[in-house]
Amino acid sequence: MSNVLVVAEIQAGKLRSSTFPTISFARDAADAIGGEVYALVLDDDAGDIADAVAKRGVDKVLTAEAPEFETYTAETWAPVVAQVAKQVDAEIVCGPASSQGSDYLPRVAQALEAGMVTNAMDVTNGDTLRFRRPIWSGSVIKTVEVTTPTKIVSVRTTDFDDSPEGDAAPIESVDVDVPTFDNVEHLGLELVKSERPELTDADVVISGGRGLKSAEAFDMLEELADLFGGAVGASRAAVDSGYAPNDWQIGQTGKVVAPELYVAIAISGAIQHLSGMKGSKFIVAINTDPEAPIFDVADYGLVQDAFEVVPELNEKLKKLGVGD
Ligand SMILES: Cc1cc2nc3c(=O)[nH]c(=O)nc-3n(C[C@H](O)[C@H](O)[C@H](O)COP(=O)(O)OP(=O)(O)OC[C@H]3O[C@@H](n4cnc5c(N)ncnc54)[C@H](O)[C@@H]3O)c2cc1C
Repeated sequence: MSNVLVVAEIQAGKLRSSTFPTISFARDAADAIGGEVYALVLDDDAGDIADAVAKRGVDKVLTAEAPEFETYTAETWAPVVAQVAKQVDAEIVCGPASSQGSDYLPRVAQALEAGMVTNAMDVTNGDTLRFRRPIWSGSVIKTVEVTTPTKIVSVRTTDFDDSPEGDAAPIESVDVDVPTFDNVEHLGLELVKSERPELTDADVVISGGRGLKSAEAFDMLEELADLFGGAVGASRAAVDSGYAPNDWQIGQTGKVVAPELYVAIAISGAIQHLSGMKGSKFIVAINTDPEAPIFDVADYGLVQDAFEVVPELNEKLKKLGVGD
């Protein structure tokens, strides 16, 4: 038993880009155990998604097609992932540590009586196979071993680069028993539609905090984000105050992002916020308080009133032709 099975993340028939850093983890894991990387695509029509995954550095793509996969439910995914894991002798089964991954992967672990690592940041094989994962909002990094023969891993995707594009791997369909349930019904999926990129995919994230004092103040952040083609985020205090929608929240109980540029505006930098953004490549903080902890993680800090600096920045960027 020495292969890695990576499950492609699919939502509403679309491949999610979180699959690509997860494949990078899978490759590291396969190198660590001396095995191959198999990617699994579960969909009612796997064609295009399987083609896309095949070019991302896996050894083989396995497809399981069934009408039940048109919409995701953990009840149908988990037993099928467990079946395929057995078929390919997977020692490691992994997927992104997203809400979807957090939903079905523990059920796969239960089905295979396997131990599970959540939010894995890496994998190494010295004397034993080990994974690192963050605890306490990322202020402590724990090293864990899993002693069961099969190991289930949810991957913290912000710690891995996207797997590079290359030659297409073979694609093979697998036979699986798709369970049906009388007591589970998919009622619908409501997706927030936005012209902006997904927060977790965006190269630039402009994020606002409670210091902005109103929902209207986020307009200037949205303008700045649009100039960069970026996404808008928020602290939990801003969300709880009703200044920003829930799905903008970044941090321990929100989304984890690691863009090229993260601009924190009127955010103090509480540890629970930092755990969702400190992996960003370049951090800019704008805050009136020079002692604000956000400056400890910022590459550039501006001690200034956001209401002065952001409109001025927007005007200057427009004059420079940014966003044209
Ligand atoms: C279990 C738990 C989970 C949590 N999860 C999260 C999470 O996921 N995400 C998260 O963000 N928080 C989370 N929190 C809350 C966190 O502890 C902080 O309360 C929150 O991050 C503070 O948000 P803030 O920085 O916007 O507000 P504040 O801490 O109030 O900071 C506002 C900042 O704005 C600055 N400011 C004020 N006016 C201006 C101005 N005009 N221009 C520039 N700067 C200005 C102030 O100097 C201050 O630094 C969690 C807390 C707990 C207990």
